[in-house]
Amino acid sequence: MNPQDNVAIVANDGGLLAGTELVIGIILRNQVSQGHKLALVDIPCDAPVLRYGIPIGYALKDIPAGSWVHERLLKMPVARELNNLPIATVKPNPLAPLQGYTFEGYRNADGSVGTRNLLAITTTVQCVAGVVDLAVERIKQELLPLFPNVDDVVGLEHTYGCGVAIDAEGAEIPIRTLRNISLNPNFGGEVMVVSLGCEKLQPERLMPPGSIPINDQRGESLDVVCLQNEAHVGFMSMVASIVQQARQHLERLNKRRRETVPASELVVGVQCGGSDAFSGLTANPAVGFCSDLLVRAGASVMFSEVTEVRDAIDQLTARAVNPQVAQAMVDQMAWYDSYLARGRVDRSANTTPGNKRGGLSNIVEKAMGSIVKSGTAPIQSVLAPGERLKQKGLTFAATPASDFICGTLQVAAGMNLHIFTTGRGTPYGLAPVPVVKVATRTDLARRWHDLIDINAGLIADGEKSIDEVGWEMFHYLLDVASGRKKTYAEQWKLHNALVLFNPAPVT
Ligand code: CA
Repeated sequence: MNPQDNVAIVANDGGLLAGTELVIGIILRNQVSQGHKLALVDIPCDAPVLRYGIPIGYALKDIPAGSWVHERLLKMPVARELNNLPIATVKPNPLAPLQGYTFEGYRNADGSVGTRNLLAITTTVQCVAGVVDLAVERIKQELLPLFPNVDDVVGLEHTYGCGVAIDAEGAEIPIRTLRNISLNPNFGGEVMVVSLGCEKLQPERLMPPGSIPINDQRGESLDVVCLQNEAHVGFMSMVASIVQQARQHLERLNKRRRETVPASELVVGVQCGGSDAFSGLTANPAVGFCSDLLVRAGASVMFSEVTEVRDAIDQLTARAVNPQVAQAMVDQMAWYDSYLARGRVDRSANTTPGNKRGGLSNIVEKAMGSIVKSGTAPIQSVLAPGERLKQKGLTFAATPASDFICGTLQVAAGMNLHIFTTGRGTPYGLAPVPVVKVATRTDLARRWHDLIDINAGLIADGEKSIDEVGWEMFHYLLDVASGRKKTYAEQWKLHNALVLFNPAPVT
């Protein structure tokens, strides 16, 4: 990965046996599985083990050349302190603008652009989920065929809304997340809310006056179906109310038409899940290349997952466009450090058994492979969890690394396309936004042939370059955004739950 590295990873399917002689003249001392590291030179005890040109750990004993280098041989570096960081020191040559790329999207009244035309039904509290489920089924069966321009109906269900300390520090995060999800460009500005009635998160608190631009233009108040309303007699009358209220929104959504818009209207969220040692070698660099293309085309790109970039904080503050953005990044990291410390853990709690089986020794190695998703563009802005994106270019949207929480927060930020890289494999998908899944290895792409949209493993196979896969991804995104192609997660309707990030107490 870097000329300074004293370890490399085995790319071969099935790994390599002890005694294998490598072309660089080293004989393997141990069997080394695919994706795992071997020592290129003798590494003395206490010396740094370098990958991506940075110490991912320090040798706990002498490691002879040709040895398998695994997490039990490494002492993890301590986390970089959040002071004396390089601030906005990297001034990359400006990326040449990329002009002329367009897609067919749904232009909204607030200027945002959707890639899908969906009716979303917002809920204030989990109590109503069962009723909304049935109502959504009935809307799909009875109404959707009458409105052929509407793609689908989505119940925005979650576990928040009651039984929570709603005025506690941090409670604003799940509330603004839910509010901003309701305003995602794919929902066309049509907001309808189903409330129970007695919950803590009252509809007016979730969507205060002025929060829905399109309602202001039409002079409408918030559309709420309240299940405890005395007009409801019996379960079926509640379902009927929701179905009836849905009709007016479907009528308006059905009038939307795709129009040609510049690629700069894309808002792409990138994240990874089920990572392996190939993530930083194939899929994430290809996403990074594609991210640069998107930024050059004037689009918005978000990268996230605090614990997976924490160890690269010095790279991020250096790439910040100005000191204010660098400081915002430090503030988000500091907040997350203290959040983890409340549970007496640190960023090392991130790695999973699957990461380690895939060859990733620790969070430092994982982070260095993760951050390359962000490409090389300057970082223009920083979002706190649940906030809505306002800026074009590259943004760090601070979120947990948990796949569904990160995805949920990126939906709230206004994402209209999602790129997800995976090495171990996950069937992950979201109802509100198309999810493009990218495999790090050909072996995974082959086995999961109807779940993986793009195979970046061809880079490790030597069949394609990072640039080629990055360009392929860019064109595929424009096709998916235009509705010309559907991702596998869309075709199979693989929809993970929305999971609101709630750092505040429950009661
Ligand atoms: Ca993730």
